[in-house]
Amino acid sequence: MDKYIEIKKRFIGKFFEDKFAKEFTSYKVGGKIDIIVYPESTGDLIWLFEFIKKTGIKYFICGNSTNILVSDNGFCGVFIKTERIKNIEVDGLIIRAQSGFLWDDMIRIAVNNGLDGLVKTSYIPGSVGGAVRMNAGAFGEETFDCLESVDVIDLNNLEFKTLKKKDIVYGYRYVRDIENFFILSGEFRFRKSDKEELLNLRNEIIKKRIEKQPLDYPSAGSVFKRPLNNYASKLIDECGLKGLSVGGAMVSKKHCGFIINYNNATASDIYSLIKKVREIVYNKTGIELELEQVLVGEF
Ligand SMILES: Cc1cc2nc3c(=O)[nH]c(=O)nc-3n(C[C@H](O)[C@H](O)[C@H](O)COP(=O)(O)OP(=O)(O)OC[C@H]3O[C@@H](n4cnc5c(N)ncnc54)[C@H](O)[C@@H]3O)c2cc1C
Repeated sequence: MDKYIEIKKRFIGKFFEDKFAKEFTSYKVGGKIDIIVYPESTGDLIWLFEFIKKTGIKYFICGNSTNILVSDNGFCGVFIKTERIKNIEVDGLIIRAQSGFLWDDMIRIAVNNGLDGLVKTSYIPGSVGGAVRMNAGAFGEETFDCLESVDVIDLNNLEFKTLKKKDIVYGYRYVRDIENFFILSGEFRFRKSDKEELLNLRNEIIKKRIEKQPLDYPSAGSVFKRPLNNYASKLIDECGLKGLSVGGAMVSKKHCGFIINYNNATASDIYSLIKKVREIVYNKTGIELELEQVLVGEF
């Protein structure tokens, strides 16, 4: 009996079966996912989460897949892709964006409307949902700087809720107690500023990122969080690990904080390299690097 038969009936034209993670993740690695579903409405989501509750099948919520490492064994369950939940609304200083809207598209819209506050996070390749979940950021600005509130589905009881920023505990690349929520949308409050200045700053930031990051190879951005009063990339470099490789995975020579898939790496190559880097850095410096990227499936 096909355990996904009801999903297939409910999501005609809105699912893929047996697609490989390497086809859609930024790392370009990872095995077969039983089923990937593309909900388009809150009705779709509630139906799906009720089904998941009833059957106990495993699920993973997936934005633009730019911060995940999916196992070579794939994932026996449902991937819920948010990319079709993507409305956006600009209302004076406020932007409301749904989870599947691309983060950088939102920043571009903000800049074009002369709205300042998150321009330094330009070019982060994730979705709004992913940015809220990770408190993504760059060059001293982060998602929560402008976030006012998040609309979510509480996955414990499938209730809709609005979480105000003041009630959320968050920090650097960290948001507490958010695992049990599906992020539907975020509301962001910006400051009015000069559009030309913002455009120039945005272009500068993009230029810097292209110069400093190994964007010509698949990766998922910085592998580790910044340790207190230090930089992961600096520590990795100082430990002599630039260019260290396992199989087709390599510590980028351009930016040591990135691991790149430079030659048909497997997820297992990347994971082994992550462990090796952590171990060597710990042995040499006593500092434990904390993983920023999210592991999906069994490693
Ligand atoms: C080249 C490159 C550069 C990068 N630079 C930066 C950078 O400068 N700063 C930075 O912070 N990050 C950076 N990243 C990492 C990544 O882009 C961010 O973490 C981004 O916010 C992840 O968003 P996503 O939509 O891709 O999330 P995914 O990778 O799809 O998911 C990440 C996590 O968010 C959860 N999630 C996603 N959507 C939802 C939702 N709707 N509800 C609940 N949970 C959800 C997932 O379950 C998972 O736990 C970079 C990545 C790459 C490839």
